[in-house]
Amino acid sequence: MTLSPLTFTERPDPLDASVDHALQAIAAGESADQACTMDLVAAPWDFDPEPGYGPGASMGDVIPTGAPRQGELPQEYRDASAEELAERVQAARATLGDRVVVLGHFYQREEVVVHADYVGDSFQLAGAAKAHPEAEAIVFCGVHFMAETADLLSGPDQAVILPNLAAGCSMADMASIDEVEECWEQLAEIYGDLDAPDAEGLVPVVPVTYMNSSAAIKGFVGRHGGIVCTSSNARTVLEWAFARGRRVLFFPDQHLGRNTAKAMGVSEQQMPLWNPHQSLGGRSADELAGARVILWHGFCSVHRRFTVDQIAQARADHPGVRVIVHPECPAPVVDAADESGSTAYIRRAIEEATEPTVFAIGTEINLVKRLAAQNPQHTVFCLDPVVCPCSTMYRIHPGYMAWVLEGLVAGEVRNRIQVSADVAGPARLALERMLAAKPPAAASAAWGNAS
Ligand code: SF4
Repeated sequence: MTLSPLTFTERPDPLDASVDHALQAIAAGESADQACTMDLVAAPWDFDPEPGYGPGASMGDVIPTGAPRQGELPQEYRDASAEELAERVQAARATLGDRVVVLGHFYQREEVVVHADYVGDSFQLAGAAKAHPEAEAIVFCGVHFMAETADLLSGPDQAVILPNLAAGCSMADMASIDEVEECWEQLAEIYGDLDAPDAEGLVPVVPVTYMNSSAAIKGFVGRHGGIVCTSSNARTVLEWAFARGRRVLFFPDQHLGRNTAKAMGVSEQQMPLWNPHQSLGGRSADELAGARVILWHGFCSVHRRFTVDQIAQARADHPGVRVIVHPECPAPVVDAADESGSTAYIRRAIEEATEPTVFAIGTEINLVKRLAAQNPQHTVFCLDPVVCPCSTMYRIHPGYMAWVLEGLVAGEVRNRIQVSADVAGPARLALERMLAAKPPAAASAAWGNAS
């Protein structure tokens, strides 16, 4: 499913949907809610006083020589009020017209999303970028791996721009290319030649990476006969991999791998966890010999916050509540929920409910607050009572948006994300395998199923 441009009626009241507003109210003592950290009340340039990629940034891939590093945001943008920044963004957009497309991820702060042409998950947004070959620039208000994927799927002359280079993904960072290469070498010691099929035509291991990984990791997977998955095609992709190999190496998110394989009947004993900081991942040769899915020790710090106790509390407070969680949540949480699914699934479930319904949602708070504001016929709330957005996504601020857009007006491309040619080829191959793994009727749905 490709995304349509946003219409006015799809845009909620920015204040209702604003996590920043909720955090400011907590800081001012005007709200009894709690936040996981008050650091987020600060502007990103105060939060990250050292210019650079910063903690949580997607550093798993090799930064091409000459690629820009995040420098200090000029003072005029840091001093500007929210109203002035919004006006400057709108003015730059009006000047640029069709030359630029602005994409906003579901988890992005509302003050940025209000300026987006499209709002969606990472793969939907890459699809939106692909649908605009006339645009010279794509301003991707998400995180680093998403901008890389958009670069892989957009035209060679289109510049994909990440407004703040420090907007990485801590999950993507948990599998660096060096760690994955090292793991692969150690697995070869256990299983022998990893490229050699056995008598039944199956190789020892097929690598599968979640979309939430660096381009370098996608390239690794492409070079080694593997494939990319999203949060709702993970089962199809695992079936594809099991048709080609004895077992799967799944990274970086252990929870998506475990939840998916568990639903396919793979036992916990057949899913050893690989710790990249230990020899043989901290597993015995016997454990690895019996493995069906080797799970990388990665997780999303946002989705790991959801608990079974929160679900019990929601059921106690709201009898009949419909609990939907993202499959990046731990397995006990997925088991205790009524449903689990990707961000696109969660949004669809709420929008398609015909009767007024109470929804308790286990995913990132910016999306939950926006869905609540867009669907006043329902009661929609986040399972986690603490306001805790994705802090790396949060580094995109209207100040950075204004800076990159005004740069384009002045003829200067700032913060371009470009995947090097040697990585891009195999990374695209891994993405193409994912699309081809789908039955033809479902192939277009692949555009709607990332995190
Ligand atoms: S929500 Fe989790 S997986 Fe998504 S960008 Fe943030 S840290 Fe990464």
